[in-house]
Formats: sequence, structure tokens, C-alpha cells
Amino acid sequence: MSKDFLIFGSPLIEEEEIEEVVDTLRSGWLGTGPKVQQFENEFKAYKNSQYAVAVNSCTAAIHLSILAAGIGPGDEVITTPMTFCSTVNTIIHSGATPVLADCDKTTQCIDPQSIRSKITPRTKAILPVHFAGNACDMSAIMGIANEFQLKVIEDCAHAVETTYKGQHVGTFGDFGCFSFYVTKNLVTGEGGMVVAKHKKDADRIKVLALHGMSADAWKRFSDEGYKHYQVIYPGYKYNMMDIQAAIGIHQLKRIDKNWQKRKHIWEKYNEAFADLNITLPADRVPEIKHAYHLYTILVDKTKTGISRDGFLKAMTAENIGIGVHYRSIPTHRYYQEAFNWKPEDYPNSFYIGERTVSLPLSAKLTDDDVNNVINAVKKILSRSTS
Ligand SMILES: *Cc1c(COP(=O)(O)O)cnc(C)c1O
Repeated sequence: MSKDFLIFGSPLIEEEEIEEVVDTLRSGWLGTGPKVQQFENEFKAYKNSQYAVAVNSCTAAIHLSILAAGIGPGDEVITTPMTFCSTVNTIIHSGATPVLADCDKTTQCIDPQSIRSKITPRTKAILPVHFAGNACDMSAIMGIANEFQLKVIEDCAHAVETTYKGQHVGTFGDFGCFSFYVTKNLVTGEGGMVVAKHKKDADRIKVLALHGMSADAWKRFSDEGYKHYQVIYPGYKYNMMDIQAAIGIHQLKRIDKNWQKRKHIWEKYNEAFADLNITLPADRVPEIKHAYHLYTILVDKTKTGISRDGFLKAMTAENIGIGVHYRSIPTHRYYQEAFNWKPEDYPNSFYIGERTVSLPLSAKLTDDDVNNVINAVKKILSRSTS
């Protein structure tokens, strides 16, 4: 058993990030500045996208993408019940109405058939989530978007490395939104990025992210001398700081190395759990490069003798930190009251949400950590089935 509690999603931070942050602190330029610009440039080169704007979270990235798409009151945006709450909350913040289309039971990504069934004359956008690092069926989703003239905003919080048919996710739609939150594949503490297909959208997001002040207002205190600015929109305080970008620059340099490590852990789990009575992540398919963000298993009491919540408790007792991604959106009280959503109306998401458990998958895990996770899972399941 693990001696110390293994914290779920603890990131791998190395000396380069630490030195770069110290350098930033000593430079005196802590806020949005040259390191944010460098991070944007390197990120868009990595993603092979035209434009990138760094912000302080993926939540901010999605919110601003919805606004830049011109979506607001009276409009509907279709997304999945199998996601983090902020995907839905940002739609609400924009004044638009969220509409849920159920996910596929195997891939756990939004089901294009279900999207089609939810389209109304008010539908303005589709907001797919590339779940766990898998890719949504972007051929089908872009087909629907083109047919009905809908914007596509991709939630890529799990999917920095993901490609679909050789193309980076986030670059299919009008906007791709990324998270650099502490548990994600690339971390900056808090942080996010929008990649945009059109320059006018990227420009708009840049302005909206810094109080709605005219372009390049972040330079107003630079050595180029003080610059007056105009407020052209009542914007938001969503800009990324150089302190955050300092971490991101080095995390991005190590993106493939960390991906390889997580791939290795993923394969060890697959092998170790092959004979257990749990559902493992969907088989990988050749047209998708998986980002290996979440290794999720389904624990079904009728098969294992232990409930999901019992399993969570038992893992904690074994000193292993676990996660739940996610209980389906309609299980939350606010959405039930505001939209009259019922979990049973989205049966696949409900089914998954009541059984899913995420096991540790950080690049920081040692071989011992991974073995401790495997032994804990096996011990708990053999105890409950015997
Ligand atoms: C983490 C996450 C977000 C929010 O990201 P933040 O950077 O924390 O705002 C949005 N969507 C999904 C699917 C996420 O996992």
C-alpha cells in the first residue's frame, strides 16, 4: 500500500518552469507581456492553428468564444451532459440557452445523432467536448454544422495532444478552447487558450479578455511609453499573466515526453485490469491520437459487488486519490430547477456518471505509484466479489 496519499492529478513540474517563474518575478513584468506572447506563438505552432489567445482559464476561453460567435439571448447551444459544469455555465453566462444531446455510451463523447435530434430554428452552435482525451466524431459534427450553418466551439480541456484524422482538435470548428488547470495535461496553475480560425474572432477575444480595451492595451506601461486606450466593449478580466505563461512554455516543450509517460501508464492499466469485471476506457482507434488525459473505469455494483461510491471510499482508504468525471449535468440541482432537466432523459450520460471513476494518470507517477494503484484496484475488487 502507498505510504503517502497519492494526490489525484498532481502535475509534473520541473526545474525549467521554476527558473522561468523566478526569472519572471525578477523581471518586474508579472502581468500579460512577452512570455504570454511567446506561449501563444508556440502553442499555435504546436496545434497548427492560425490564431491563439491566452486567457486565465478554459472557462474564460469558452465564454469569450461564445460571445465572439455573436451568440446571446434567444439562441441555443447544444452540448453534452458528460462534461464539467463550466461548459454549460458559460452558455448561460452569455445569455443563451444550453441544450443537451446525450453522449455515446462507449466513447463518452457527444453523439452526432443526438445533436441532430436537438436542432431547432434557434440553434446557433454546437459545443462538443473531446472527452478524456478522445476525439469526438468531427466528420459528423462538422457535417451537421455545415448543413445547419452552426458555429462549432470545441471544448478541448482534455485534449491538448488529440488529433482526429491527422488534424489537431480545436482546429475543426471556429474555436478550440484549452485548459491549463493543475490537473490537466499541460498546466500553468490556472490558465487557458483559445485557438481561432478567423482573425476577427481572435482580435475580438483579445479585446474582450482585457476589459474591452482597444488592441494591445496590455502594453500601456511598457518602455514604448504610455499609450491611451479606448474602452470599446464592457469586457472581462480574463487575461493570462506572464507568471502563468512562464510555466506553460516549458510544459509545452515537454508535451510529448509527458504524453509518452501517460501512454505507458494507460497501457499498464489496460493490461492489469483486462480480466476484471469493470468497463475499461474505449478501445483506441487508428484515426485518433488520444491525449490520455483521464483513465476512467466503470464500476457497476451488479457486476463487482461494490458500488462506485463504495469503491471511491475504499481507494481513499488505500491512500489513492481518485476523481469522478463526471456525474451527468442533469443530476445537479440548479439545472434541474432552471431547465427542468432530468437525468433519465440522457440515459447514457446518467449511466456513466453513476459508475465512472478516474484513476491517477499524471506523468509524475512513478512505477511504484502505478503498481500501488493497480494493487489497490485488484484488492478492492477481489474483496468485494469473493
Ligand atoms: C477543466 C475543464 C474545463 C474548465 O477548465 P478551467 O481551465 O478550469 O476553466 C472545462 N471543460 C472541461 C471538459 C474541463 O475538464
